[in-house]
Amino acid sequence: MTEDKSIIIIGAGIAGLSAGCYAQMNGYSSQVFELHTLPGGLCTAWERRGYVFDGCIHYLFGSGEGQPFHDLWQELGAVQGREFINHTEYQQVTDGENKLIVYANPDRLQAHMTELSPLDAKLISSFCDGVRKFTDFELSAMYEVPKPMMSARDWATLGRKMLPFVPQLAKWATQSTRQFADKFHDPFMKKAVAQMFSWEEAPVMMGMMLLAFMHTGNAGFPVGASLAFARAIEKRYLDLGGKIHYNAQVEKILTQDGRAAGVRLYNDEVHTSDKIISAADGRGTIFDMLEGRYTSRKICRMYDGHLPTHQMCQISLGVNRDLSDQPHWVTHLLDEPILLAGEERFEIGVKHYCFDPSLAPDGKSVIELIVRTNYAYWQRIYGRRIYDREQRQVSEIIIDQLEKIYPGIREDIEFVDEATPLSYERYTGNWMGATTGWLLTKETTPMMIFGVPKTLPGLEDFYMAGQWVEPGGTVTIAAASGKNAIQLICTEDGKEFKAQAV
Ligand SMILES: Cc1cc2nc3c(=O)[nH]c(=O)nc-3n(C[C@H](O)[C@H](O)[C@H](O)COP(=O)(O)OP(=O)(O)OC[C@H]3O[C@@H](n4cnc5c(N)ncnc54)[C@H](O)[C@@H]3O)c2cc1C
Repeated sequence: MTEDKSIIIIGAGIAGLSAGCYAQMNGYSSQVFELHTLPGGLCTAWERRGYVFDGCIHYLFGSGEGQPFHDLWQELGAVQGREFINHTEYQQVTDGENKLIVYANPDRLQAHMTELSPLDAKLISSFCDGVRKFTDFELSAMYEVPKPMMSARDWATLGRKMLPFVPQLAKWATQSTRQFADKFHDPFMKKAVAQMFSWEEAPVMMGMMLLAFMHTGNAGFPVGASLAFARAIEKRYLDLGGKIHYNAQVEKILTQDGRAAGVRLYNDEVHTSDKIISAADGRGTIFDMLEGRYTSRKICRMYDGHLPTHQMCQISLGVNRDLSDQPHWVTHLLDEPILLAGEERFEIGVKHYCFDPSLAPDGKSVIELIVRTNYAYWQRIYGRRIYDREQRQVSEIIIDQLEKIYPGIREDIEFVDEATPLSYERYTGNWMGATTGWLLTKETTPMMIFGVPKTLPGLEDFYMAGQWVEPGGTVTIAAASGKNAIQLICTEDGKEFKAQAV
């Protein structure tokens, strides 16, 4: 009998909540332990003086009805009755004189880029052909069957689905946006294209896929912001009979005779179960909660710090000014670099959220500025007064820049909120405050395609889910990963996996 089997899930991020929902749908009795007081993990937002600052979803794969991944969100109760904003452009990049508009529509993008740089027409055409091709790409096919469960036949089926895309994948998955940008003849395009997908190491394939999904209406922004989105999945889980313990940080995963047997919380409470899924930080799970007792050379190598991760500061502003007639996201290339948290930055991205009026009082706007940063810099000063001063200094420098873009804006600022990698680490336990687990680059793309182990050597009844076992992260893949963990467990228990929409 599996009906009575119990599962403990560590973490109420999207992966943990998803695992919980599918556990309940499949007759397991599950409970989630979460260190924070809220669901969602990185998928969050916070309200300050009438402004809602979103900390996560810019683009949600699976938002479009009938499109890849939409079923997953229906099963998790996240999309029913929810409105999505579908942007026609990803962002704009400008040096003050020239402007690259990153249209989602490949025809429009091709015409616009070619007008900006006729000499690069061939390169642009091949890039836009890639975007067109990816509009048919079923990314969800890669997560239908958990990779560890895939038989030779499953791999062959996946291979057949992927076959038409192999030439595009081979060409664009191995090329970073910076390398692509360097091929342009036009000096503005060299700089602007490097920033078009927000980080230069991003494989071009990733950006193409994003544009393709936006173009087909499958990468929208959920109205009400990321926490409301996470709350809907929390509700689904509770409605399915799941239990969530907040303020319940797991200190240790307890093992017995090579099996995961339970968890001990920091308050010394012990909870036992038949199976455990950690949907929390990967490094913390393997090396702290399990004390590094179940590893391999490969796992240790993954966590030795050589793989890329993404850290950032987010400066959020509540401003008494209506910016709804302005483009929603613009990266400004700077003539002179600015020094932010010890590093020179040559660009600053400014995003406003007026497209969702529920996030600010009437006539006012939320502005967010995201800056790449170095974890070690903040870690060295954390806990000292200089840390707060440094946060303020970063926001001051950024507001000075913003003044040049929107003269007089300083006077209109009603609230300033700063988040550093230490904020992300503190609130979600993610190693070095990483925002997506392993950053998707051309080096980590093979890990995404072929998968990362979801179990640990020598430990039975234990599984991992979430962004640390699905390189590149994203809310959607985290949810798919939670589902995959329950598919694995069902298979081991000889049960047919079941899923149903609300
Ligand atoms: C600024 C930003 C922008 C992003 N933009 C997008 C986007 O546009 N689209 C998109 O799809 N994705 C985006 N992402 C990525 C996405 O948010 C993550 O990849 C995804 O939410 C990860 O989910 P997860 O459940 O795997 O991990 P997490 O969200 O990290 O969840 C892990 C949970 O475990 C809890 N936990 C950790 N340790 C313990 C412990 N010891 N005991 C109990 N609980 C514990 C944490 O508190 C947390 O709730 C963005 C992320 C950030 C930060």
